[in-house]
Amino acid sequence: MSMTDPHARAVPALPAGAALIDLSMPIEPNPFDPAVLRRQLWRHEDGGRRIGRKAAFNRRLPLWTRLSRAAAYVTRRRRIDAGCFPDHSFLGNELFTLSVHAGSHMDAPFHYGPLCEGRDALRIDQIPLDWCVGNGVLLRLTHKKACEEISAEDVAAELDRIGHVPRQGDIVLIQTGSDELWPGPRYFGAHPGMSVGAVRHLTDHGVKVIGIDTAGFDLPAPVMIERFYATGDPSCLWPCHLFGRTREYLQIERMGGLARLPRQTGFTVLCPPIRVTDAGAAWVRPVAVVPEETP
Ligand SMILES: [Zn+2]
Repeated sequence: MSMTDPHARAVPALPAGAALIDLSMPIEPNPFDPAVLRRQLWRHEDGGRRIGRKAAFNRRLPLWTRLSRAAAYVTRRRRIDAGCFPDHSFLGNELFTLSVHAGSHMDAPFHYGPLCEGRDALRIDQIPLDWCVGNGVLLRLTHKKACEEISAEDVAAELDRIGHVPRQGDIVLIQTGSDELWPGPRYFGAHPGMSVGAVRHLTDHGVKVIGIDTAGFDLPAPVMIERFYATGDPSCLWPCHLFGRTREYLQIERMGGLARLPRQTGFTVLCPPIRVTDAGAAWVRPVAVVPEETP
């Protein structure tokens, strides 16, 4: 594997020459992104002021305790503030208000509906971890145009081209190149989308996890809604997500960096989601473990 890629890192714990490749997108404010609502950055220089305020805990204690503490205060210092820390610099903190669908994230069946294959749909914290480690299969479909559907034939042709038959445990990654549109509005409104046929083709072979580098797994919402208005056909609305009510599979949306993968099979993908209780999705930092290229 070429170590000239600044995102590829040799890791001593991995087989010699193997590299980790980051396949994630960032979580950061973006005016076009409804998934990240608010971000507050508490910087180190503010930390002392904040803890100074917090240290007024005496106010919450009963009066007699406060009086005895007040007595203690005049004899010795009972206060924590910025002056207690080196360079008046306390700990930083960041507070986010965001959807579980922000940044690279995994959708669990519970996102698609309450039931999946007739049983209670799995929430993200119930996903078996072993589903999230598998043989990576990269399908390069960068020829797909804005708002174009990725068909079963597209998927089958690319699998044919790379000579791979999908099997249980594969984690299939769909590269459209849409991550390059980040952070502009086209990232959200002009990406290709998967079709039910394409998902059925992969899940028929036992694939449980399909990742894609678009903002959403289906076509952009305005495109689906316009199609629905034009035809009255409800199957235009989030077809792949709703297909997940009858076929148990996980989607990773908003992946990034698939162009950096030096091969299309013969690597491992790790993508365990964050354990958010009772949620239908959660953030994930997908990485590929790519063995050394054999000349
Ligand atoms: Zn999602």
